[in-house]
Amino acid sequence: MQKNNLGYPRIGARRELKRACEQYWSGKIGREELLSVAEGLRKQNLRVQQEAGIDLIPCNDFSFYDQVLDMSLALGAIPKRYTPVLTQNNANIELDLYFAMARGYQKDGLDITAMEMTKWFDTNYHYIVPEFHNGQTFTWFSSKITEEFTEARKVLNQSPKPVIIGPVSYLLSGKEKEAGFHRIELLKNLLPVYIEILNKLREEGAEWIQLDEPFLSLDLTEQEKNAYKEAYAAISKACKGVNIMVATYFEALGDNTALATSLPVQALHIDLVRAQEQLDEVLHAAPESLSLSLGVVDGRNIWKNDYEKSLRLIKKAIAVLGEERVFIAPSSSLLHTPYDLDAETDLDPEVRNWLAFAKQKLNEISDLYDILNGHSELLDKNKQALESRRTSTRIHKPGVKDRVAAITEKGATRNSPFQIRQRLQEERFALPLYPTTTIGSFPQTPDIRKLRALLKKGELTPTEYEQKIEAATIEAIRIQERIGLDVLVHGEFERNDMVEYFGELLDGFVFTKNGWVQSYGSRCVKPPIIFGDISRPEDMTVRWSRFAQEHTNKIVKGMLTGPVTILQWSFVRDDQPRKSTTFQIALAIRDEVVALEKAGISMIQIDEPAIREGLPLRKKDWPAYLDWAITAFRLSASGVLDETQIHTHMCYSEFNDIIAHIAAMDADVITIETSRSQMELLEAFSDFKYPNEIGPGVYDIHSPRVPSVEEMVALLEKAAKLLPARNLWVNPDCGLKTRKWEETEAALGNMVKAAAKIRKNA
Ligand code: GLN
Ligand code: ZN
Repeated sequence: MQKNNLGYPRIGARRELKRACEQYWSGKIGREELLSVAEGLRKQNLRVQQEAGIDLIPCNDFSFYDQVLDMSLALGAIPKRYTPVLTQNNANIELDLYFAMARGYQKDGLDITAMEMTKWFDTNYHYIVPEFHNGQTFTWFSSKITEEFTEARKVLNQSPKPVIIGPVSYLLSGKEKEAGFHRIELLKNLLPVYIEILNKLREEGAEWIQLDEPFLSLDLTEQEKNAYKEAYAAISKACKGVNIMVATYFEALGDNTALATSLPVQALHIDLVRAQEQLDEVLHAAPESLSLSLGVVDGRNIWKNDYEKSLRLIKKAIAVLGEERVFIAPSSSLLHTPYDLDAETDLDPEVRNWLAFAKQKLNEISDLYDILNGHSELLDKNKQALESRRTSTRIHKPGVKDRVAAITEKGATRNSPFQIRQRLQEERFALPLYPTTTIGSFPQTPDIRKLRALLKKGELTPTEYEQKIEAATIEAIRIQERIGLDVLVHGEFERNDMVEYFGELLDGFVFTKNGWVQSYGSRCVKPPIIFGDISRPEDMTVRWSRFAQEHTNKIVKGMLTGPVTILQWSFVRDDQPRKSTTFQIALAIRDEVVALEKAGISMIQIDEPAIREGLPLRKKDWPAYLDWAITAFRLSASGVLDETQIHTHMCYSEFNDIIAHIAAMDADVITIETSRSQMELLEAFSDFKYPNEIGPGVYDIHSPRVPSVEEMVALLEKAAKLLPARNLWVNPDCGLKTRKWEETEAALGNMVKAAAKIRKNA
């Protein structure tokens, strides 16, 4: 039996890599210093894993920005537009080229756009999407893989296990940049380079190489399945004398089980946290030549492992395969968990006893091994911690559970259908056609953010802080009045973040000081931890919405984050279904919506930007998810009168495959992103597929550019062709918190003029 790790976080326990990269980008430190910070982090990670007793320690899991981008550089998959960076007479060539691909390049008279970025499966990690052309060829370009292997072998004094994205997953993770071919057809050109790299690693002394093939857990076409057979037949033929481990994660192999277990490799890693039910089937299918790496420690969450449960799975595998063919491992790379629980000195000790971060998870792997070798005291200690969690009154609130159990369809439905509500609301609000509004936040200037820092340090009293936020809110109201917007917002100045703000006010959440997880490049997020039943001890937003409403005669829209988004952007409980947690949040938000209505707020927006990213990886699981996600939203929105207008907002617009569900949310108004696609994405909503009111974003808030009146009129004219004017709103694509006031005022001013123009033509 061996202890196997799939990958370790690399940003640094104190985000050292983030700082160093950002300093390098801004020219504050040189290449040597950046490289030395990186080397220090890699070495420290290796030692931590060795000390924890891990046998198969990963290398090449380090990255300056993203491991998929690393692979593109290794394979020479460098888009042509970066050639000028390459030919630039510059000593830092490879590193600068790499960062140019990640972030774009504006220097030495060059202006080259960055490569596209997208989410890595269902994580909050974003990778750089490889770009492919018909007939593209590959060559081994960057030698990072072998360099980091050599370095790690020296540090460890044993052979580390290089981690490389497998050839099929690499191709599938990319995008065709022209029509007329499928990227999987490039496999033939790609394989020789993989074989060259693998053989070089073997020559250098690699015993195991991990090839990540997470796409094996997704729906695959016949062509893609064949690509797997072809790729691994070629590798096994050409790379004798080194052991290949194919790693799958985030889902069950499902209908790809026979395919995965028949690949001519030495080991297969499976995720038994997401899909423990797959063990029987995989054991049954595994040929004698195949070892199994059992992903029993959760690589995606922060809870202490349930040793009893893991041991049951491990013992079952041993019974079939024998000890030599079994590896104990985390379910996926530990990249998606924070570094070290020991750093959380302020955390409530009771809750802390239920948690494990990356470093603790390494110990869990070796504990499981030790228990199997007679150290039963480790099991007892684990049982105690789990028992304390199972029975804690901090977690379990019968009142909350009863309320969720009593949810009915009627409770998740507005009193009257949309047509009736729309008439009542039109009478109540008497807005012009094409009413103008914004998505909620106004610029979070350094001054605003500083207020929170001063409050934390005790240099501002809570009263002083509130007064300053009030002043900012009033100013935002005046600016909106001056611009001439129809529906105003309070500006969200009191919020640090749209999830954290609510988590801090709800019961059932805790927050870490250093629980950072890499999101993309140098960007990290610190997700709140949902540990217990969620309830709302007091009003969360009423004070601010009421305050804003009292300072204007215009309508002020209340602003909340929806239940699915709060769930999706937190570490969630693993002791009850996600659905139950979401319903608990939904009830808390529902109470807030009702409280806002009581306080005289007549329009309330419940943001749900994360509904789409919550979609399961396998299509067969979509209906069940959408069913509860949409119900949760409706539950939060249905406690109010017909005359109260519910808005929602989503910052994407690829709705084609879920448009019926978006319609079923039954928000009175939805605002979405569409400007970057020139309203093309709005087509999903036309032809009566979307009956309610809708505000297709008319300008992109991600750029400081101020759009002209004419271009917004043109977009609105397009929208008016697709949808009835009665249903259309005018607003930007998303919130304005990242913008400056100057741009914001100019852009919104033009937007209001554009609305006036199109009204005249209507
Ligand atoms: N109301 C939020 C804001 O304006 C919405 C943000 C989002 O959609 N991500 O910032
Ligand atoms: Zn948005």
